[in-house]
Amino acid sequence: ISLYNIDRWGSGYFTINDRGNIQVNPTRAPAAIDIMELIEEAKQQGLTFPMVLRFQDLLRDRVETINKAFAAAMQEANYRNEYRGVFPIKVNQLREVVEEIVDAGAPYHFGIEAGSKPELLAAMAIHRDHESLIICNGYKDKLFIENALLGRKLGKKVILVVEKIEELAEILRVSKEVGVEPMIGIRVRLAAKGAGKWATSGGENAKFGVSTAELVAASELLKKEGLPNALKLVHFHVGSQVPDIGTIKRAVREAARFYSKLHKLGHELGYLDVGGGLGVDYDGSRTAFDSSTNYSLHEYARDIVWNIMEVCDSEKVPHPAIVSESGRAIVAHHSILVVEAFGAIEKDKAPIQIEAVAEDPKQVGEVLEIQRNLTQQNRMESLHDAQQLKEQAQSMFDLGLMGLESKARIETVYWQIAKKVVDFCAGMKYVPEEVKDLEVTLSDQYVCNFSVFQSLLDHWALGQLFPVMPIHRLNEFPERQGTLVDITCDSDGKVSKFIDLQDVKDTLSLHKLKPGEHYYLGFFLMGAYQDIMGDLHNLFGRVNEAHVFLDEDEESGWYIEETIEGSAIGEVLSMTQWDKNELARQVKAQVDAAIKSDRLKPSEAMKLLANYERALKGYTYLQFNGNGTSATK
Ligand code: PLP
Repeated sequence: ISLYNIDRWGSGYFTINDRGNIQVNPTRAPAAIDIMELIEEAKQQGLTFPMVLRFQDLLRDRVETINKAFAAAMQEANYRNEYRGVFPIKVNQLREVVEEIVDAGAPYHFGIEAGSKPELLAAMAIHRDHESLIICNGYKDKLFIENALLGRKLGKKVILVVEKIEELAEILRVSKEVGVEPMIGIRVRLAAKGAGKWATSGGENAKFGVSTAELVAASELLKKEGLPNALKLVHFHVGSQVPDIGTIKRAVREAARFYSKLHKLGHELGYLDVGGGLGVDYDGSRTAFDSSTNYSLHEYARDIVWNIMEVCDSEKVPHPAIVSESGRAIVAHHSILVVEAFGAIEKDKAPIQIEAVAEDPKQVGEVLEIQRNLTQQNRMESLHDAQQLKEQAQSMFDLGLMGLESKARIETVYWQIAKKVVDFCAGMKYVPEEVKDLEVTLSDQYVCNFSVFQSLLDHWALGQLFPVMPIHRLNEFPERQGTLVDITCDSDGKVSKFIDLQDVKDTLSLHKLKPGEHYYLGFFLMGAYQDIMGDLHNLFGRVNEAHVFLDEDEESGWYIEETIEGSAIGEVLSMTQWDKNELARQVKAQVDAAIKSDRLKPSEAMKLLANYERALKGYTYLQFNGNGTSATK
C-alpha cells in the first residue's frame, strides 16, 4: 500500500509481500524475512510486546555500503589517500551492535569513536585492528587521557581530540608522565552552520571546538614542546541529520582550509575528520526537510572527497586520509520496534438518530434543524451555527439551565454535523484549518502497549518523525484515521505527527481492530539514539529484543540468534532505591496480619502473595494472554 511511502523511506530494506506483511530484506538481495513469521518465532521463544527486532545483516550492509561509497568516490576522483571511518558508539552502545559493526568494518579498517570514559573503555577492549582509529571526542579528565594513552602503549591509533584549548596542555603533561607520544586531534569551530534539529553543534556559539586564535596558540604550544607532528587530525562536526548538502559542502571546504593552513604551519597531520551529519531519509521525501536529506550517500561521499581534494590541491598540501563519524546512517535502519495496538477509542461510532423531547430547550430542535438542512454548499455556515449552539448549551449547563440529556443530544448532533462537514471537504485542494482540526479531533486513538518516553524519546523531545505503519493486513485498505497513544499516565505519551511526502500528517491510516485478533504496528528506522536515550517514566523499562540473522541453511532463511529480556519490574524499582526482597517482605507482613485478623483466608492470601512476587519478576509492560483485546470505548 503506497499510503505509507515504504518504497521511498524503506531504501530497499523493507517491502510488502503478497501476504500483506512487511518483509525485511537485510542485504537488499532477494533473501527476505516475513516479519509476522519472525514475531511468531519470537513469541514461541517467550518474548512479548513491545519488542525490538534487530537485523544484524542489515547493520553489516550499512557498514559496507558507506565504506564502498567513499572508496568509489575516492577512486573516481583519483584521491591520493584512504577513507578511515569510525562508528560513534554513542549512537548505539549495545555490545552486539558495536561488535557487528567492528566485524563488518574490519576489511575497511573501520574504527570507533568514543565520547566519554565508559565509551572509551568499551572501545579499547573491542578494538583489535591497529590500522583502524579510535577517536576520542568529548571533554576529558586525567583518567580519560590516561586510558587513551594506554591504547597508544598497546600500539593502537588512539587520537585525543582537543575540544577546548585547556585540554591540550593536560594531554601533553599526562603523555610525559605516561611516557608515550600522543596522537592529537583538534576540533575546529567553523563559521559554517547548518539547519535542522541538531544544528547547534556548528557555528560560533557551538559548545565544542577551538577558535582560530586558539588554534594558532595550540600550534605554537606543540612546536614549543617539540611535538609539532603529534597533531594528526583536524575535526569538525556540524550536527547530526544535516538535511541540506550545501551545509556539508561549506563546512568541508572551511575545514579543509584549516587543515591546509595548519599543515603549512609545520604540522604533518594526516587525517581530516568530517564528523557525523550524514542524514537518514526518514520520510522518503528526499528534501532538505528535517526528517529527510536532499542528497544521497553517494553524493555525500563524492562532495566530501572532491571538496577536500580541491582545497588541498589549491593549497599544495597532500591529501589527508578522510575520517567520518556517521552513526545514524549506519544504525538507524537495523531495528524495528513492534508494538501491539490493543484498543481503539473511536469518536465516530455508528450514527444514532437523535430526536428532541418535550423537556428539551429550543437549542436541541435548532441543532437538529441545522443537521436536516446541511448541504455541500452551506457546510461551513452550518458548522459555525452548530458550534454556536454547542457553546450556548455549555453556558446553560454551567448555569444549571440545561440537563445532562439535552446537552448530550446537542453535542451528539454537533459531532455528526462536524463529521459530515469533514466528509464534504475530503479530497478538496484547500481544506480550511478549522476543518483539518476537526478531522484530527474526530480521528480514533489507538492505544498501544509501549512508552513513548522509553522507546521514542526524540519524538517526544524534538518532534522527530519516524515511519510508523501496520506490519500486516497490508492487502486490506486501512479505512480508519487515528493517532497513537501509549500506556504511560501522561498525555504527552502519544504520537500524533506522522511522515508524509509533502507535509507532516496529523493522523495515520489504520485498520479497524477485529475482536480477538492482534494488531501490530512497526516503528521503523529506530536504531539510532532511541535505545539509549529512553527514560523510565512511569517505570516502564527496557523492552524485549530479538536479534535476527540470515542463514541459508535454515528452511526459513533466517534464525533468531539471541533474545534479550527487557527490564523486570524488580529491576526498574531497584533503580529508584526500592529493594525487591524488602518490598516482598513488607507485603508479606501485611498479608500475614490480614490472615491473623481473618480478613484473608490463608489459601487466598498465598495466591495473592505469589502474584505480587511473580509481578516483581515480570515485564514492566502490559501482558495479554494470547488474544489481543480490541475494546471499543
Ligand atoms: N561525531 C560527533 C562528535 C557527534 O557529536 C555526533 C552526533 O551528534 C556524531 C559523530 C554522530 O553523528 P550522526 O548522528 O550524524 O551520525
